[in-house]
Amino acid sequence: MSKAQETVLEINLGALSHNFNYLKSKLNPNTKFLAVVKAFAYGSDAIRIAEHLEELGVDYFAVAYVKEGVLLRENGIKTPILVLHPQPVNFKSLIDHCLEPSLYNAKVLKEFIDVAEKQNQKNYPVHIKFNTGLNRLGFWESDVDYISSQLNATNSVKVKSVFSHLAASEDINEKSFTENQINTFQSISKHIEKSLGFKPWLHICNTSGVLNYPEAHFDMVRCGIGLYGFGNSGEEDKKLKPISSLKSIISQIHKIEKDETVGYNRGYKASGFEKTATIPIGHADGISRIYGNGNGFVIINNQKAPIVGNVCMDMLMVNVTNIECKEGDEVIVFDSNNKASDLAESAHTISYEILTAISNRVKRLYIK
Ligand SMILES: *Cc1c(COP(=O)(O)O)cnc(C)c1O
Repeated sequence: MSKAQETVLEINLGALSHNFNYLKSKLNPNTKFLAVVKAFAYGSDAIRIAEHLEELGVDYFAVAYVKEGVLLRENGIKTPILVLHPQPVNFKSLIDHCLEPSLYNAKVLKEFIDVAEKQNQKNYPVHIKFNTGLNRLGFWESDVDYISSQLNATNSVKVKSVFSHLAASEDINEKSFTENQINTFQSISKHIEKSLGFKPWLHICNTSGVLNYPEAHFDMVRCGIGLYGFGNSGEEDKKLKPISSLKSIISQIHKIEKDETVGYNRGYKASGFEKTATIPIGHADGISRIYGNGNGFVIINNQKAPIVGNVCMDMLMVNVTNIECKEGDEVIVFDSNNKASDLAESAHTISYEILTAISNRVKRLYIK
């Protein structure tokens, strides 16, 4: 790995292979692996990540929106793609790009069947989403007979899978709630299998579900964060490798006297002689203002340098009074040792949010 000369997000495809193989080792050989590559593969790069996972033999992809699936298709991705949260306005485009919708309420079910019939589709693959306690998207168990009557009345679509999503699979204190979700899901599945007259695939586990509820892997699992190197627990984090490192450089060092201030709104005031370093990364790059005023930090020559004052749009300033450093030195925002999850915690958020916030402006670099 070379030293950063500007702000870059280095993406280690070897680490991605490692994480894929680790998660796969938790599954029985018949369980299919769906890789969640929504939100630009959690801020890395959906196309490169999907290409690499396709080479590794992943079975399915999922994205949140149709537009994300279209991007993958336009870049040559051939693996089936489940769209988790499609809107009817995009159903034609979804079919044109061979994407598979999650149908989560009566309105989208009906509208999708209408579009599929108009386009003369036969057995177009669809996925039925049930709510088992997250209360976000999904039919209720009491809708099963309605769903089956709609589906049995058309041959334009065919249910490929039935699925649900866990609300707190990473939280051991919510074990009984999660088990209840799994039981509800099993009961729904039995009910719908009976009224459809065949067995669609079943899936409910995200990454933490895979790690904590082996009895609930069913026919397929849906992993996102684990592929990117985070297991939502200290123990699992040790076995996974963060795939991305966000690096930058010191643009300038300022020496300031007691009572001088730093940054917009004079957010920071020096308590004595101090040294600050200006780094070319700001809230427009994904480092939110929440990280300002001492909440967040970067690593310079292996030492923590707290962010002083307000994060600006294009840069931020850190306190390097006690750090030996010079202009041009490398800055680590996060990497495989200084984890994004730790930085996220300093601002009371989670790895998912800091990773997906890294904006388009930050150059991506790939390492095999
Ligand atoms: C985002 C998402 C996932 C992936 O969850 P991770 O915790 O990142 O593994 C799985 N299923 C659904 C429905 C999702 O929205």
